[in-house]
Amino acid sequence: MKKTLITLVIILGISSVGHAIALPQATRCLFIDFYDFEKQENLYYRDHVSAETVAELSGLIKLAEERVGKFWGEKTTQPKFIYCDKEEDYRKFGSPFPTPAAALMHIGSYILISKDGVDLDIISHELSHTELFARVGPITRKFKIPVWFDEGLAMQVDHRSYYSIDTLKALSNNFQKLPDVKKMVDYPSFGAGTREEVMMNYRTAKYVVNQWYTPEKLDQFIDDLNDGKSFEEAY
Ligand SMILES: [Zn+2]
Repeated sequence: MKKTLITLVIILGISSVGHAIALPQATRCLFIDFYDFEKQENLYYRDHVSAETVAELSGLIKLAEERVGKFWGEKTTQPKFIYCDKEEDYRKFGSPFPTPAAALMHIGSYILISKDGVDLDIISHELSHTELFARVGPITRKFKIPVWFDEGLAMQVDHRSYYSIDTLKALSNNFQKLPDVKKMVDYPSFGAGTREEVMMNYRTAKYVVNQWYTPEKLDQFIDDLNDGKSFEEAY
C-alpha cells in the first residue's frame, strides 16, 4: 500500500506556491501522523508551540475557510494544516525554499504554514489551491491548468495590499506594462526572475483572472474541464 501511494506521488508530481516541490516533503506529509506532532482538529504543531499561537492559527483557519467557501460557493476540502515554526521543519515538510506557506496536493491536501505564514491572506490563498485541486483532481490540475491561472485564482482570496490590483495599476503605468503571464504555464517560468518580477507575475495573474472571474464562469469552467475539455476550451 505504502509503495503504491509513493509511486502515485512520483507520477503525479507535487506543486506548491511558486515552486515544484521535491518528493521527500510530500511523502513526509503523507505520514504526518507518525511524526512527533501535536494535533488539534486538522491542525498539527510541535509541542513547544504556545497555546496562544495554536488558538490564533485555529481562528485564522476558520476565517480562511469562510472566505474561501464564499468565493468557491462551498468549501469541499479538508486539508491537514501543518504548522512548522522552525525553519528546519518547514524545509523538511513544506518546501526547501523559504516561502511563507505551501500547499502540497497528492493523496489528500496538506497546507504547510511557516512562522511567516500565520496570516489570513496567506492561509486563504493556500486553501484556495486545495479547493481547485479537490474539484478537478490531480491529473487535470497537473497537466491542464497553467500555473498563472492556478495562482491568479488563489490570489482572488488573497488581499495582501502589495499584491492588490491598485498596486499593479500604479506599478504598470495603468496596466500598460504587464508581464505576459499567460505564457507562464509552469512554476519554473512563473517563478523565474527577481523577487519583484515574481511579485509582478502574481499581481498580473490576479488581475487577469479578476477580469475573467464570475462565480458562474468558474462553475462552468470546472464542469467543462471535468467533461474533458482543454484549458483553452474551458477558459
Ligand atoms: Zn499560490
